Amino acid sequence: MHDVKGSIMRIVDALRNSFNDIVITGSYLMNKVFNVKMSPEDAINEAEVLTSMFRDVAVLIDDVGFLNSLGSLSTARVRGSLVVFVYDIHDIRPFCGLIGLPCLEPWDQGSLVRAIKESRDYGESFELPYIVRLGPWLSVGEGVNGVGIRHREATFNKNWGEPMRWGPSRLLGSFRKELPEEVRVRSRDNITIIGKGDGVLISGSAWSFIKEHIDKIGNYSMILPLYINPLPKDSISIKYVVDTGDYLMKEVGVERLMADDVSKWYNDLINDAIKQLFFREPGDPLMLIEWLFSKYWRQGEVPIMVIDPSYMHVINTEGLTPSYDMLPTFFEPRSFDQVIDFVTNSLMAVLASLKTNYGYGRLIAIVNPCSLLGREELIREIVNTNGNYLIIIPLTEDECSDAIGILSKVNANYKVVNYDPSNPLGSLQDILSIVNSRGIAVMHISKSSLGKYVFSIIDEYCDNCGDCLRINCPAIQLGKKPVIDAKACVGCGICQLVCLRGAVTRVKVS
Ligand code: SF4
Ligand code: SF4
Repeated sequence: MHDVKGSIMRIVDALRNSFNDIVITGSYLMNKVFNVKMSPEDAINEAEVLTSMFRDVAVLIDDVGFLNSLGSLSTARVRGSLVVFVYDIHDIRPFCGLIGLPCLEPWDQGSLVRAIKESRDYGESFELPYIVRLGPWLSVGEGVNGVGIRHREATFNKNWGEPMRWGPSRLLGSFRKELPEEVRVRSRDNITIIGKGDGVLISGSAWSFIKEHIDKIGNYSMILPLYINPLPKDSISIKYVVDTGDYLMKEVGVERLMADDVSKWYNDLINDAIKQLFFREPGDPLMLIEWLFSKYWRQGEVPIMVIDPSYMHVINTEGLTPSYDMLPTFFEPRSFDQVIDFVTNSLMAVLASLKTNYGYGRLIAIVNPCSLLGREELIREIVNTNGNYLIIIPLTEDECSDAIGILSKVNANYKVVNYDPSNPLGSLQDILSIVNSRGIAVMHISKSSLGKYVFSIIDEYCDNCGDCLRINCPAIQLGKKPVIDAKACVGCGICQLVCLRGAVTRVKVS
């Protein structure tokens, strides 16, 4: 009988000699061999954070685990390299195709070495996860030599160029040259041509613009490819492209049509979406976290900010809408949407970063209390690992407040901070004491007293340091010095928390 356990152990040995970090998980097989409890989703989340700190990361998973992690994998961001080795009993290739990731299939020891090298190097170059299929047929003997680990210190680079670099670059063709020939052939069968005349290739994103202006290009043939890349250059004559940027123009080597109109339309669209998504109102308690982040940033740290995906949409029910986005902070952050580095499972991100010994700044993670439930072991592991982190658990209403009991159970260093506008300085002291001792702040946000007060700035005490502006509260405007608009102020007190000069004072609403 095939020795599955021995074969998996030999693969793990080979990976240990080739990667900085190995995350082992799986829903069945790997659990049998290693007794691991980590869910496949968690494994990919952890690997994503590790690779984002320039580490070469291997995930070893079984086929069922692979299927369960497709969602995370299809959006995983890669900076070092991320190679997912799937020990598959059932064929996973159709699913690699589904998420558009290359799937390599080594057949012996030599080809495994090539697969490891290739996947590791390509993963890094193209910032994509690579899949390597390792079915039970693969025989790996002792010592897979010839790869070697690239020893790298964990670093985190916020200067990643364009905003939202990872997602769109993936979609717009980072891996275009690597697509196999059969995909190119299939792409020719997925083209819609409307009208007669010179061909105009229309990108998917520009289609909703152009269909409203069809009269303007009625004399052309409009070509809509299902696959934007690779382009079927040899089968259709393309004279122009309509695209929201230069991508297709450069790819095809022809002019853009209606470039200014499309660009304007697209910019308006995006600006509108940003306003809708990231508009924030006064009183958002996360302004405090923003201020903390800026404080460390100014002290020369490169803090890493992680937020739970559940906070992407709603953090509370009273119209205090936070602004979350994962923009790289290559400039001095001014608002929350500019400081978030990861939107992922925050607890896994804390653990992953602690494992790398990241030493350039602390990790600030905002964790949903509900995500503590059932995670006792994980929290214990975090608490028992050395490193510099601050976990903030916003507790609004009573949602999952029971989960906080887990923190006592695992002897975590945590403090409940009553974020109360009637005692803002007390809250600040509490938070800072936790920051200094490394730990967890459970931020109990009581909104019952919001609205009883407004705050105002005493001009002569204010030295124009700008700290209160950093929290980005829309009620604070900049005149010669900052001024609070009493009508817009909801009395949350955060500006008083951050003003260490005592220039912000509370005024009772009559
Ligand atoms: S933080 Fe205080 S001192 Fe600094 S600008 Fe604001 S009100 Fe003035
Ligand atoms: S001005 Fe100060 S107290 Fe008023 S809403 Fe803004 S941060 Fe809160």
